Amino acid sequence: MGLLNSVKKIMGVETKPAQVAMEKKAEATKEKKPVTNKIKLGHVHMSGCTGCLVSIADNNLGLIKILDDYADLVYCLTLADVRHIPEMDVALVEGSVCIQDHESVEDIKETRKKSKIVVALGSCACYGNITRFSRGGQHNQPQHESFLPIGDLIDVDVYIPGCPPSPELIRNVAVMAYLLFEGNEDQKALAGKYLKPLMDLAKRGTTGCFCDLMDDVINQGLCMGCGTCAASCPVRAITLEFGKPQGERDLCIKCGSCYGACPRSFFNLDVIPEFESINEIIADALKEGESND
Ligand code: SF4
Ligand code: SF4
Repeated sequence: MGLLNSVKKIMGVETKPAQVAMEKKAEATKEKKPVTNKIKLGHVHMSGCTGCLVSIADNNLGLIKILDDYADLVYCLTLADVRHIPEMDVALVEGSVCIQDHESVEDIKETRKKSKIVVALGSCACYGNITRFSRGGQHNQPQHESFLPIGDLIDVDVYIPGCPPSPELIRNVAVMAYLLFEGNEDQKALAGKYLKPLMDLAKRGTTGCFCDLMDDVINQGLCMGCGTCAASCPVRAITLEFGKPQGERDLCIKCGSCYGACPRSFFNLDVIPEFESINEIIADALKEGESND
């Protein structure tokens, strides 16, 4: 019996039937939660700003649902007291790597060794992002001048670009990774299809810039002037002029979001017909979390 009910009983106030039903439902939901076969998820912090981790947390109760039912957070220096990189099914790596920092270089190699799937979480890990502009010379480590995206040091399986990356995309990748490890054959196939474009992005390279749109979309005659690139740019470096994107290169922080968001960049025809089933499967997986939002 809850504290409130005890107080009410002492005061002679009866619990309403509707309240009893709600409490029973809450109890029943608690008992239903599976706790086995969770995947091991870790957050590895390289030279990042923790904004990617905030984006993970911005899934609110969706994150709690994932941690309740699908994944154990086995490593995250910001949130847990595990000091050394453990074995992980999925490592979400935030930030780029300072190659003058021996420990960072060792950490990223260790992450690759210990993880089945390495995800570059956010644009610093994928493309270097703002750390591309680092030139060193600052107190108290003036020699820390060169920062590389993690894909320049290790093989990366999946990219989640964005500065910050969207909470929904992180959530979807986490659910799909769970299905890949623990789902039935159909679910594994669906998860594979979902992750494929993000794996293709990882294979494509480690540079992100407005010029990607110029080189691989506009100059290829693929741009249809939808404006998605402009909407996705976190620093408003893109405007649409006469229906075509114009980039303000001095504003561009090299996050690669515009290319990632452009529907003419790596749109994957294998995934589009599965859009509804993917949405349904994710909504189903997170039902309880979403209804409590
Ligand atoms: S998102 Fe792609 S297709 Fe749309 S305007 Fe930008 S470059 Fe063109
Ligand atoms: S133009 Fe904007 S979205 Fe594209 S890479 Fe530069 S900062 Fe990122």
